[in-house]
Amino acid sequence: MLHNLYDALDNKYAEMVDIRRYLHQHPEVSYKEYKTAEYIANYYKNMGVEVRTHVGGNGIVAKIHGNKQGPTVALRADFDALPIQDEKDVPYKSTVPGVMHACGHDGHTATLLVLAKTLHEMKDQLAGTFVLIHQHAEEFAPGGAISMIEDGCLEGVDVIFGTHLWATTPTGTIEYRVGPIMAAADRFEIKVQGSGGHGAHPHTTKDAIVIGSQLVMNLQQIVSRRVDPIESAVVTLGSFVAENPFNVIADAAKLGGTVRTFSEDVRSQIEVEIERIVKGTCIASDSTYTYAFHRGYPAVVNHKEQTDFLVEAAENVPGVKTVQETAPQMGGEDFAYYLQHVPGTFFFTGAMPVDVSTAYPHHHPKFDIDEKAMLIAAKTLGTAALNFITKEKSEKAKV
Ligand code: MN
Repeated sequence: MLHNLYDALDNKYAEMVDIRRYLHQHPEVSYKEYKTAEYIANYYKNMGVEVRTHVGGNGIVAKIHGNKQGPTVALRADFDALPIQDEKDVPYKSTVPGVMHACGHDGHTATLLVLAKTLHEMKDQLAGTFVLIHQHAEEFAPGGAISMIEDGCLEGVDVIFGTHLWATTPTGTIEYRVGPIMAAADRFEIKVQGSGGHGAHPHTTKDAIVIGSQLVMNLQQIVSRRVDPIESAVVTLGSFVAENPFNVIADAAKLGGTVRTFSEDVRSQIEVEIERIVKGTCIASDSTYTYAFHRGYPAVVNHKEQTDFLVEAAENVPGVKTVQETAPQMGGEDFAYYLQHVPGTFFFTGAMPVDVSTAYPHHHPKFDIDEKAMLIAAKTLGTAALNFITKEKSEKAKV
């Protein structure tokens, strides 16, 4: 059965490339992916597949039923683009000024659509149900996953698999990890309210720049002195604004930053520690503050059994040369939410352009992928899905 899947996918590779290039030329930013959603829905409608539109926003959920009872496997692809100007010199370059697919979500969508078409053609040989989750708004919190889940996209789902094409890893490599693979990404804002005045009379003021500077240094102690050294965490201050003429003492200062963690305990600990330090520093300098901590996506935490299962499936996929464990990535992904509801795993499919001079990191204005990686992603997701259905059947037969 797997060979039928691989042959059928090989035969549809040109279509996969066409879809990806069409989407690449017509990108839409998060929450505004109306035409992309319509394109996806029409693809299923033309195939005669059951499809639900406007799931939790612009999300699309399609279902393919095998001809026998069996488990339900969900596969997810996101489809939003980024507010970045496409600076590549290729025929399929973005036609929308200031918007481009700079994270490969066009490739995710092409991969899942063609895999779905293949599963639909094979459905008479298959048991169970395949739920194809096409998710909008991955790039911008709160993200599409949470609203799609609230709108029922995981109902009846036994397992979920998802992948990200990864342009900095060579094609032919599958990277997995049990436990946290991507970080929780949070944002915080601090405003220090001092008391401004004449640069010549500091004793009559509360200098917000001096207080803010103390804060910058004191916050460094969270990771170095408060967080368990076995855990990973980042506290980065990306902005410090207190602009004044050179001879004026600042009345207020605004600081903004990001926190990255893998454990919920460390995440909550840092949220509290930041405020403790802000409060203490402001008390010491007789000033006041406001503090806001905005939670972004939680960490993507892969389940062990389903990750082991994926690894075994990936090892026999044509085109896969290396299956290796990856270090956790400090980037965020709202696939995290699916894994809080159902067992599953999220992995990386290497997609580095063959000409490495055109290999750029994700979110770069010249970002591109090796399109052959889409075929590997489709085969790997398809193998995991079919193996899962076969496994459940044989386990039930044993009972
Ligand atoms: Mn992405």
